[in-house]
Amino acid sequence: MSDHLQAALKYAHQHDAEFLGSLQEMLSFGSISTSDEHKNEIYKTAEWVAMRLKALGMERAEVMPTTGYPVVYGEWLGAPGKPTVLIYGHYDVQPVDPLDLWHTEPFTATLKGDNLYARGASDMKGQVMACLNAVEAIVRTGQLPVNVKFMIEGEEEIGSPSLDAWIDANKDLLKADFCLNPDAGMLGKNHPTITYGLRGLASFELTVSGPNHDLHSGIYGGAVHNPAKALAELLAGMHDENNHITLPGFYDSVRPLSDEERTHLAALPVGDDFIKQQTGVPEVWGEAGYTSVERATGRPTLEINGMTSGFTGTGQKTIIPAWAMAKITCRLVPDQAPEAIYENIKHYLEAKAPNTIRWELKMYGGGRASISDINKPWVTALANAMETVWGTPPLFKREGGSVPVVGMMQSALGMESVLTGFGLPDDNLHAPNEKLDMPTWRKGTETLIRFFFNL
Ligand SMILES: [Zn+2]
Repeated sequence: MSDHLQAALKYAHQHDAEFLGSLQEMLSFGSISTSDEHKNEIYKTAEWVAMRLKALGMERAEVMPTTGYPVVYGEWLGAPGKPTVLIYGHYDVQPVDPLDLWHTEPFTATLKGDNLYARGASDMKGQVMACLNAVEAIVRTGQLPVNVKFMIEGEEEIGSPSLDAWIDANKDLLKADFCLNPDAGMLGKNHPTITYGLRGLASFELTVSGPNHDLHSGIYGGAVHNPAKALAELLAGMHDENNHITLPGFYDSVRPLSDEERTHLAALPVGDDFIKQQTGVPEVWGEAGYTSVERATGRPTLEINGMTSGFTGTGQKTIIPAWAMAKITCRLVPDQAPEAIYENIKHYLEAKAPNTIRWELKMYGGGRASISDINKPWVTALANAMETVWGTPPLFKREGGSVPVVGMMQSALGMESVLTGFGLPDDNLHAPNEKLDMPTWRKGTETLIRFFFNL
């Protein structure tokens, strides 16, 4: 172990109280991004983060405007020839209501035993501070062994609406070898986790119509194709008996799961029993030939999110509805494109829709999936740091959902993201009594220090 690494670890250990104090200070800002009334707190938090970055000796640290809430940008590029890490974070938080369910003040970070309670403690001010603390420990005892850039945004909790354009306008500024995104958590206290893949999304609305108004079923029933039935038939035909999706071309650009990935996914503590227990379903379901974890993370899906048609009030109304509508979303995997899925559904409808009805397909938008190569040196550097700190290698997981910023980095900058974080599944994210487990947070800081040296 290098002397500098040893000194940095010692510094972190000795400054535990100061680190906690800084986190408590950051948590005292009510930086809720979902409504305008907290605007002042948002700007105050951004200024505070920029001030902290300056104090760490960043060559550049500023609050940069976007069309929405600002991005805090910082950089230190004093290690020429060494890798550059772009650290992503967000300083905004979720709203706090229902307030009466909180046991402590949401913006007065309160330590109870090992837990620090406050809105944003885990998602993700605690994670941002773990990164800043790791950098502090290194720069107070020597020089950073790599180049770092920080991009800390203020709109994550509202879907990062201004970030796309800001990233596009600042491509050169953001150039780095990879992005470290600590906004994903761990699967358990003893399970350090690296998330290397996220699914994309494509969303649609399908409307089937027949008669120009609701019809009396006693007069026309039997002579007119019921649009609700026609829609149900079309939707049912989108999967076959093996639960494969039947849309023509749907799987053409799906990247298959490698044997290495399947081994990693099989090691995750989330099997069929977990799903049954969490959801209350009598049995799991899905595409033949894949496990539940694979189906929910590494394979594409087609879901009906809602359907509406005809009379749904109490009692009876003997009609043939004029129309029926379904909301449909597909979770996508690399390298599927949302626009291509629109074409797949269109071709399916052109081939399968009967001439007794009309149909209309609307697309609402979407985003591509993202994936990082788990054999890249920065993933190995992080995995090794985790193994040193926890005494067990990390779990490698893919996420079934989407994180817009990761897709933006990949499409605008061609940059891969490594997602990690030191939050736990029971941290009450987005809920009352959000908390951060302090022993895990300290391990997180140590992991990040080691990660920078491993690089
Ligand atoms: Zn977050």
